[in-house]
Amino acid sequence: MVSEHASPLATVGGVDAGGQNVHVAELSAALVRRGHDVTVFTRRDSERLHWEQTLPNGVRLVNVDAGPARAVPKDKLLPYIPAFAEQLANYWTDNPPNIVHGHFWMSGIACIEAVGKLQKQLLPPPVVAETFHALGVVKRRHQGTDDTSPAEREFLEPWVARSVDRVIATCPDEAFELRQLGVNRRRISVAPCGVDVEKFTPDGPARARGKRLRLAVVGRLVPRKGVDIVVSALALLAASGRRDVELLVVGGTSGKDRIASDPEARRLRELAESLGVGGQVIFVGQVPRDEMPELFRSLDAVVCTPWYEPFGIVPLEAMACGVPVIVSAVGGLQESVVDGVTGIHVPPKHPAALADAIAILADDPELRARFGAAGVERTRTRYTWDRVASDTERIYRAMLDHWEEPEADVAASRSRLRRVGEGAR
Ligand code: UDP
Repeated sequence: MVSEHASPLATVGGVDAGGQNVHVAELSAALVRRGHDVTVFTRRDSERLHWEQTLPNGVRLVNVDAGPARAVPKDKLLPYIPAFAEQLANYWTDNPPNIVHGHFWMSGIACIEAVGKLQKQLLPPPVVAETFHALGVVKRRHQGTDDTSPAEREFLEPWVARSVDRVIATCPDEAFELRQLGVNRRRISVAPCGVDVEKFTPDGPARARGKRLRLAVVGRLVPRKGVDIVVSALALLAASGRRDVELLVVGGTSGKDRIASDPEARRLRELAESLGVGGQVIFVGQVPRDEMPELFRSLDAVVCTPWYEPFGIVPLEAMACGVPVIVSAVGGLQESVVDGVTGIHVPPKHPAALADAIAILADDPELRARFGAAGVERTRTRYTWDRVASDTERIYRAMLDHWEEPEADVAASRSRLRRVGEGAR
C-alpha cells in the first residue's frame, strides 16, 4: 500500500487526515487477517518516526524519507514524489511485492515510476492498483479557483488512471467519472469503504447529553463538507419556532483555542451567531477515533451534507451505531445510505430541504429507531472491512491471473507519463 500523505498512524479529523487514513489502515489490517503480508509506505512527516516498524495488528509501516521530516500540506507534496518513488524502487528491489496499491493520485505516480524502474529487473513486475479517494476533476468542478491542488493534477491524475493495471473505485459514481477520464471500463472495479462493526456498535456507553434533539456533523472542517448548510437549516427551524435542536461540530483542531485558530470554525461560528443560532452550535473539536462510537451513540441523527463526497465513511460509522443519517445525494452517499430506509437523502446545498428532513426525524422517534436498526443491518451485511478486503483480494487475484505484458494502451500511457514527469523535473 502506498499512501504518500495519509499514514495509518495519523490523528484523523484535521484538514489533511480523514477517510483515506482510516481506509488504508483498516484495509491493510483486514488483508493481514486474511493471511497476506502488507506493508504501508507513507512519507516520513516527523523526526520522531522510525524508518520501519510493525504495528500491533501485524501491518508493516515504512516511513519514507522524501522531503522534510515534518508535516507538509498534501497540495505541496508533488515536488517530493520523485524522491519518494526512488525510495520505493530501492526498497522493492530487495523486497519485491506482487501487488502495489496506490492511494491518491500522487501515490499512483510514485507507484508507476517505481515499478517502471523495476521492470527490467523483475519479471513479471508487480501489478499496480490505484484507489483515488478523490478525483481532481470533481474537486475542481465544485471548488473552482479555491482548489489548491497543484496545476499538474489536471493532466497527471487522468494519466495515472489510464496507466495503472486496475483502478478501484469506491462507488459507481466514481466509476462513471473515471470512464469520463478515458479509463477503459474493463480496468475499473468497485470496492466500497468499510466500517469496523466490532467497534462501531449500537450497544455500549454513550456520551452524556441533554434533552434537545442532538445532531452532529463529523469530519475534516473544510468548506466543501457543507457545515454552513446545516447551520442555515437550524436557523430555518428556529424561525419556524423549533429551537430544541443542537448541532455538534466534530473535527477540526482541538484544544482551548480550537475556534480562534481554525478559520473554518471561526466562519461557522460567525454564521451561527449572525443567524441567531449561536447557542445551538457546539464546536467539539477533534475527537479521538476510539471515542467516536460513544459520541455517535449519544446522537439522534448524523447530518452529512457535503457539496460532493467520493465515498464518506462517517455515515457508515453512524449507521453501524444505529444512528439515522441525513445525507446530500452525492457521490458514494447515494449508494451507502438508502433513502427512506437507513436515512434521508436531500439535494446538496439546500438548507430548506435539510430543515424539512430534520423536522421529520425530530417528530418521529419510531422512524429514527427504524432507520437506526436498518443501518446496523446494512453495515453488518455489506460494509465490514473483512468483506471489503475479500472484494479487494478478488480484484488483486484477477489482476495477477491475467498478467501478461501491460496492454498497449496502458504501456503507451505509462511511457507518456514518464516523459511528462521527466519534463517537469
Ligand atoms: N474522524 C475522527 N475524529 C474527528 C473527525 C473525524 O475520528 O474528530 C474520523 C471519522 O470518524 C471518519 C473519518 O475521520 O472515520 C472521516 O472520513 P470520511 O470518509 O467521512 O471523510 P474524509 O475525511 O475522507 O473527507
